[in-house]
Amino acid sequence: MHEYSIVSSLIDRVEAEVKKNGATSVGSLTVQIGEISGVDSRLLAIAFDTFRERTCCANAELKIENVPATWKCPKCGTPPVAGGPLRCFPCNQPAELVAGDEIILAHLELEVPDHV
Ligand SMILES: [Zn+2]
Repeated sequence: MHEYSIVSSLIDRVEAEVKKNGATSVGSLTVQIGEISGVDSRLLAIAFDTFRERTCCANAELKIENVPATWKCPKCGTPPVAGGPLRCFPCNQPAELVAGDEIILAHLELEVPDHV
């Protein structure tokens, strides 16, 4: 399943951040999933639950934000008409994807022990 490899690399990135910051655990992680990234947020949550045992994310809360696909004309910046073709007619340009095809680790809440 596609979602498993995504979760695996997400946790790798979280673990790198944990090490870098000397954190003891992860409170929560926020992942943004683009509408057309091809990732099912429900499956991603299930994959996360399966994977997180014995990782730094064992007690972390997974927050998923769905990001709608956004397009704009590369020339004039006008978004295409909703429901219409992905094209700017005045400029005769195919619309450019601005957001919505990515999976982003948007926010990470780390538990860092106080330095005594
Ligand atoms: Zn245009």
